[in-house]
Amino acid sequence: MNAIRISRNDRAGARRIDVSFEFFPPKDEAMEKILWGSIERLAPLSPNFVSVTYGAGGSTRERTHATVKRILGETPLTPAAHLTCVAATKAEIDNVVRSYHDAGVRHIVALRGDSVDGAGAKYAPHPGGYETSAALVAGIKKISSDFEVSVSAYPEKHPDSATVDADIDMLKAKVDAGANRAITQFFFENDLYFRYLDRVRARGINIPIVPGILPVQNFKAATNFATRAGASVPAWLADRFNGLDNDPATRKLIAAAVAAEQVLDLVDQGVTNFHFYTMNRADLVFAICHLLGLRPAVDQAA
Ligand code: FAD
Repeated sequence: MNAIRISRNDRAGARRIDVSFEFFPPKDEAMEKILWGSIERLAPLSPNFVSVTYGAGGSTRERTHATVKRILGETPLTPAAHLTCVAATKAEIDNVVRSYHDAGVRHIVALRGDSVDGAGAKYAPHPGGYETSAALVAGIKKISSDFEVSVSAYPEKHPDSATVDADIDMLKAKVDAGANRAITQFFFENDLYFRYLDRVRARGINIPIVPGILPVQNFKAATNFATRAGASVPAWLADRFNGLDNDPATRKLIAAAVAAEQVLDLVDQGVTNFHFYTMNRADLVFAICHLLGLRPAVDQAA
């Protein structure tokens, strides 16, 4: 008997693909222009939500708020504000959460954050602050059960964590505190994600574990980022970018090919939800979303 082969396009076409986009708050006017250009380009793809990061040590608190509030006020997008436990008391964090609620924000990405001395330095909770990300999730839900709360997940384990199981214990605590969704640290080998997912499900965790995808706009920056985040960079990936330091046009094509290969393989294996680390740049993410079958809302209506 002949096996029925379902092509990748048929599969992706038959499923609804949901995406979300992550941005960081801009430091200056030039970066602000880049960010808003990217938001305008990606908004017509109707993402589930767009999230705005919170700088290390709470350093971007005001800029994160301003960006989230502008998204809420000037676009049809649903913003999610990242928030960490770092360098603030519970009362200070609760005030931030309440001010988001008053402004109409209903989605928070709740994180422990890194030590004020930088990622890799030993973390100590702030005196009077939330001790863990799970405690922060519970605190947010206590302020209002309207909040949707996303949390982090680490397919290759967080660098502070002794084992993957210890890491999954923390994820379980966050889920028990009310987390609605986890977004993974980026990874380049899809097997890492699927192995992790098996362990998470075996632990009785049933919330969506959305893969975080980092399109490699700049290989050196991505490698530095990965080293700090405890994500591995496979030799084959380094090899693909090798020799292209002075060839930005080819680098961009390779980056698109690498990301396309990764997300289409995930789709082939049943994944329908993606979170993109945009680094505030739209082009690559827009192209990958196009491959995933997403079209600007205006085209669909035509
Ligand atoms: P958790 O999930 O709470 O903990 C991670 C692991 O560390 C767990 O396994 C836990 O067991 C272990 N652990 C926690 N505390 C301790 C301890 N005291 N001793 C030993 N082990 C411990 N950072 C920002 O600053 N701003 C952001 O906006 C931001 N956004 C992010 C978004 C996503 C989707 C992800 C994946 C990460 C993001 N980060 C951000 C990075 C994050 O803050 C760091 O990775 C931080 O080190 C851990 O925070 P967490 O909430 O992920 O940790």
